[in-house]
Amino acid sequence: MPDAILEIDGLDSFYGDFQALFGISMSIRKGEVIAVIGANGAGKSTLMRSVTGLLTNRPDMIRFGGANIGGLRADQIAQMGIAMVPEGRQLFPSLSVEENLIIGGQVNRPGDWTLDAVYDLFPVLAERRKQPATSLSGGQQQMVAIGRALMSNPELILFDEISLGLAPIIIKNIYEALPNIIGTGMSAVVVEQDIKRAVDISDRVYCLQEGRVSLEGASGDVSRDEISKAYFGV
Ligand code: ATP
Repeated sequence: MPDAILEIDGLDSFYGDFQALFGISMSIRKGEVIAVIGANGAGKSTLMRSVTGLLTNRPDMIRFGGANIGGLRADQIAQMGIAMVPEGRQLFPSLSVEENLIIGGQVNRPGDWTLDAVYDLFPVLAERRKQPATSLSGGQQQMVAIGRALMSNPELILFDEISLGLAPIIIKNIYEALPNIIGTGMSAVVVEQDIKRAVDISDRVYCLQEGRVSLEGASGDVSRDEISKAYFGV
């Protein structure tokens, strides 16, 4: 794809001897939102960990902005402009809301995302800025995790199941904030179990099944039947 910002080319990923991903190929354009869907264990989180350097890969399997990043460390990849909102949030429990956000900014990439911009996006975090992050509700903690990722001013942001375990009204609030984030020209990958939500928010969708891409298409074009087949294999 000529204007791709991220290109994944035949990615195999392993946990020791166990192979979790088989020949995944995927590309994302600047400003594009990609949804990655798939059942439990399909390999979605493994794909996110591979892109962010938490799992090591052959260098030429992943390119970002034209550079091979497959062999780089997680901190080097963050510095290049990829941020992740990880499954389960993984906030620093002993630190305040504000300290968690500041840590996200430590990669020192220039851009519009500052503490004030994050507090404008999620005003409740400004009220709670001095509180331990883990004393907040689940939804507010998710806002901290999103804010922490934004503080690195990424070009590509990966959201790994941000609605997991949250009440429907909170999920709605968080998803309503996403266009404000993505509208700044960022590219995004949204990993989501809720198929309708995933299709609604994205330009294109990839479905994973047992570590392989089982469907790829424009979100407006793929039918419920095609998705069900790709998702469940029936
Ligand atoms: P979920 O929705 O449950 O998070 P997923 O699509 O994100 O599912 P992964 O977590 O990427 O799936 O898991 C893909 C495969 O890799 C599964 O078979 C899983 O058991 C295995 N796996 C995941 N993490 C590890 C690990 N740390 N060590 C060994 N195997 C793992």
